[in-house]
Amino acid sequence: MHNYQDTYKHKGQRRQLREVLQSKGIKEASILDAIESIPRHYFLPVEFESHAYEDKAFPIAAGQTISQPYTVAYQTRLLKVNKGDKILEIGTGSGYQAAVLCLCGADVYTIERHKVLSETAMQTLNTIGLASKIHFYVGDGTRGLISEAPYDGIIVTAGAPSVPKALVAQLKIGGRLIIPVGKSAEVQRMVRITKVSELDIQTEAFDDFSFVPLVGDNGWSL
Ligand code: SAM
Repeated sequence: MHNYQDTYKHKGQRRQLREVLQSKGIKEASILDAIESIPRHYFLPVEFESHAYEDKAFPIAAGQTISQPYTVAYQTRLLKVNKGDKILEIGTGSGYQAAVLCLCGADVYTIERHKVLSETAMQTLNTIGLASKIHFYVGDGTRGLISEAPYDGIIVTAGAPSVPKALVAQLKIGGRLIIPVGKSAEVQRMVRITKVSELDIQTEAFDDFSFVPLVGDNGWSL
């Protein structure tokens, strides 16, 4: 059981994590401030709690992972969040990325295919007062979330075999989709798609990452 205590030691470790991310090229104060203020140790299974401020991914329930802080910061940076932006996250997982987006000023909608993860994320986010500011959904995010579309940004936190057209369709003009894409389950290229107009889509490719698979109608099949 978590005891949900955020000690000076944890705060010191977060300051060090901030410096690690800065040294890896993350410059945006809003993202670094969010990471420095969110108790990541609440989002991990208790057995990994003492490793929470290492810049690493860790296992969570349902065979899934909480992303590495650098990956969270990297995707958030590519998303270019402006205050009040309506953002859809696909893959709630632990809820940590949703917390970062929320503290960066986004109005966050997050969808997860495993109900148990969505419920645990909601409980964790409740302990830091963010659950009421985030909209949780359970379902297949490869279809997007049409009931709340369009979005200023969509962030996919699982590896996709290709870019789901449904997600591009749910972007506003000027909206950004950040998605790791790769034909192998081991490595994906981070891609940003910007909807310049209804007919004009800009695609940019960035670094390689390794995510758990995006499973669904427009993703990998089980
Ligand atoms: N953003 C998460 C965090 O901050 O902890 C990390 C997410 S983990 C790397 C990827 C998540 O995507 C997993 O929880 C997985 O169950 C979820 N996922 C995979 N396919 C999905 C889909 N089609 N719809 C919604 N969630 C999906």
